[in-house]
This record gives sequence, structure tokens and C-alpha cells, in this order.
Amino acid sequence: MKKIPIFKLEFESKFVNNFNKFSKKIFKSKSLSEGSYVKKFENKFSKFVKSKYAVSVSNGTAALEIALKTINVNNKEVIVPTNTFFATIIAILNAGGIPVLCDNKKDSYEPDLNEIKKKINKRTKAICVVHVGGIISQNINEIVKVCKKKKIFLIEDAAHAHGSYLNSKLNAGSIGDLGCFSFFPTKVMTTGEGGMITSNNSKLINKVREFKNFGRSSNPLILKSIGSNYKISELTALLGLLELDRINDRINKRRNIVLRYKKNLKNNKNYEVLLQKSGRCSYYKCIVKTKKLSSIIKKICKKKNIELTGKVWEVPMHKQKIFRKFIKDKSFKNSDNFSSYHICPPNYPELSIKEVDYISSVLNKI
Ligand SMILES: *Cc1c(COP(=O)(O)O)cnc(C)c1O
Repeated sequence: MKKIPIFKLEFESKFVNNFNKFSKKIFKSKSLSEGSYVKKFENKFSKFVKSKYAVSVSNGTAALEIALKTINVNNKEVIVPTNTFFATIIAILNAGGIPVLCDNKKDSYEPDLNEIKKKINKRTKAICVVHVGGIISQNINEIVKVCKKKKIFLIEDAAHAHGSYLNSKLNAGSIGDLGCFSFFPTKVMTTGEGGMITSNNSKLINKVREFKNFGRSSNPLILKSIGSNYKISELTALLGLLELDRINDRINKRRNIVLRYKKNLKNNKNYEVLLQKSGRCSYYKCIVKTKKLSSIIKKICKKKNIELTGKVWEVPMHKQKIFRKFIKDKSFKNSDNFSSYHICPPNYPELSIKEVDYISSVLNKI
């Protein structure tokens, strides 16, 4: 078998031709920053994730930072899983907030509900949930309830969860007060760099719009708040529009791959492929719990020409030395354990079922 890389990304000729065609219109329009294509992209994205509003921003990290500044977490605590990507914590810190980390549930990638509840106090401004690998937690209803009861905001890091839903009412990006998406090349859809903030709350979304555009008031000459510039270009929006034309196909391909792994590994007690319990997942990652240390599995796969993809996550946030001075708790045993006992085998739409079968056969022999 030829080498199976960590990541592939292909744009079919129809995609490239359309990009060429419409980019000519953009060049002629002379409006290279936010114009009609950005509007179209935001509208189409909000329809896709079934949120009332969507505002484009320069990347997923900016989306989180703006969301947290919009609800003003300055000097307030934000409850967040230790098992996340460092961008989530960076955004909290850059918004002036204090990250309060939660340990995972035992043998799980997601935080324990009781752990979240225990950490709520008078200084808590928000809970930030992360839909790891695109999977929306079965606990999400309970988390929404807790937030309502305690009057704290719910922010979704939906960087993995484009198009994920648990049911028709629970769509990633509009479950909480603000949802944050990333369009980095490895994600479910891409614009190279880019991000989106979604919400059903017009007041919050107006604040987001103000903030991403320097902090301008309705009079563009007058500043209302001190924001920054997080706008995107028309060409970025065009990429996003074309990606939205093919995203459902690509999610289906990811789904077929994950279900194939599930089938291929089902009789092997060393592995458990994790799936969302209902609705649709974006299948951004195929998360496989392992009985053997993932470092050992990784080495063997490498010898067999297979590169496993990035884990979720290899280094939880309490293990990042640079964050130590900002966090109180230091011991997160379940998270430490999970980080060593899971793998994410290749799972991208460009992967063939034959390759999935080969990877599975290698895994089954370990
Ligand atoms: C990718 C990612 C981000 C950041 O998105 P960028 O667009 O790369 O800034 C934030 N959170 C999670 C969980 C991510 O995977």
C-alpha cells in the first residue's frame, strides 16, 4: 500500500473552474473586502447550521476571542475542558478571562457534568463547550439548563462541528449564545484561513459585527467600542460558498469512513470507535479508544506507511507549561489517561475505503 498521509485535500475541476469564473467578477467589482460575496457566504452558512445569524471573521481563534469579548469575560471565569485545542484557552486569555479547566469523564474525551457544575461560582461568566471531533455531547441539554439557571453564557467551540446536530432543535453553533467555527484547511470545510460566529441572539450578533469592524457605530466615522479588524476578503467568501456546495457530500464520505472503521474493528476488544448517539455528526475525527498505548500503535502504523492524524488531544491544556500560571487545578487524571489511550486514524473525504480497510487490518494485527 502506498503511503497514507496525515491529510489530503483536493478541489475537483468543477470547484476550480467556478472559483476562476466568480473571482473574475470579484476583481471587476473592485470591492475586495466585505461585499456581496461575504453577505452571501454568511447567509448560506447560517442556513446550513440553522442559526438565525452568522458573521464571518478572520479565523476560528478570532471567532472565540470576539465571542468572549462580546459577553465580556474580562476578569471573570470561563469554565472550559482541559481536553481542547490551545486556541480555546488563548482566546479566553486574550479576552481577559480566567480559564477554569475541567477534567474529562472517566475513559472519555468530554468533561464530566458534575465537574462543570462544581466549578460554577459567582465569578463564572460562561461555560465554553467543545464539540470534540464534531460530536455533540449527550449532556448538552443539561449544560444549557445549568447555564440558564445560573444566568451564565454558553459559548460553543464548534471548530470541528460544521453541520453536526443531535436533533432538529440542537444544531452545533446555535445551541449556546454564540457558536464559533473555523475554516482552517484541515477542518470540515475550508477557506484557507477563516471563521464564523453564529447566534440566534440579535443583540449579541450586533455587538459581534461592531467588534469585528474596529468597534464602529452605525456612523462609520465614530467608534463605539475598541474592537479590531477581523474582516475577511471576498475571495475568502467565494471559497466558503463553493465549499458549502460540497460539504454534505464530504460529510457523507467522512461518515462512510468512520462507519467502515467501526465495522472493521468491531470484534476487536482493543478498540472502541466513538460515535455521536443520534442526529448527524460532522465526523471531523474518527476517535478510537485503545487498550494499548497510542504511542506504540502510532509507531507500528508508521512502519506500515500509515500516518495517524492529530489526537484530541495529545497534550491537554493543564500540561501546557505556559498556561500553568493562569490555572488553579493541576491534576486531571482522566484527561491524562485519555490522551494516552486513543488514536485518530486517517479520516478525510479523499481517503478510499480500500485504504480504510488496509489501516483497519494493520490495527487489527497490533
Ligand atoms: C482549529 C481549532 C480552533 C482554531 O481555529 P483557527 O481557525 O485555526 O484559528 C479552535 N478550537 C478548536 C477545537 C480547533 O480545532
